[in-house]
Amino acid sequence: MKAKVITFPVGLYQCNCSIVYCPESKEAILIDPGSEAETILKKINYQGLKIKAIIHTHAHLDHFGATHEVSESTDASVHLHKDDMPLWNIADLQAEMLGLPKCPHANVDHFIEDSQSFEFGEFKLEAIHTPGHSAGSTCFKIENSDEQLLFSGDTLFRRGVGRTDLPSGDSREIAKSIKEKLYKLDIDTTVIPGHGPNTVIGEEKRQNPYIKA
Ligand SMILES: [Zn+2]
Ligand SMILES: [Zn+2]
Repeated sequence: MKAKVITFPVGLYQCNCSIVYCPESKEAILIDPGSEAETILKKINYQGLKIKAIIHTHAHLDHFGATHEVSESTDASVHLHKDDMPLWNIADLQAEMLGLPKCPHANVDHFIEDSQSFEFGEFKLEAIHTPGHSAGSTCFKIENSDEQLLFSGDTLFRRGVGRTDLPSGDSREIAKSIKEKLYKLDIDTTVIPGHGPNTVIGEEKRQNPYIKA
């Protein structure tokens, strides 16, 4: 069986928000509700999903602008790697810098640990801590599904990598994370990045102009 995935871009920066769910139990995990809470909630309700957790690839505001509203409406717990708390806590400053509207502050309920799993029905999402774009950047890989899928946040893009010139960014760390963690995954793994089109691990290993395998 395959886990179902709905991915759609939200907000000014077109952050890819994803809802992954088990088609039988309707249990779901929400990844990066960056903006447009109403759109996100509509999709959740249309499918009749029960959101078990809201997880974040990192704490740039374009990835968590709608977290407060969606967590209030769904009662789902909010998760972030602790190394991104300094960014999470300056949401208002980020709004000013990025030209985004200020949003109500969401509380983080739990810190994400490396290798931690988030279960939804028959499936789970496994966290892979990949510092570099930010200190707490984390990717999530679907387990037990017939399809191999990775949510890479702003760490790995199609033929690109995340910028490292923002607070807690580190160009050596991002290279290490991609080479030693993401490029070690099965080459057929489909990658859904934080922005822009999907890619495949094998293609990036061969063709990514920034980080060579
Ligand atoms: Zn980012
Ligand atoms: Zn982003």
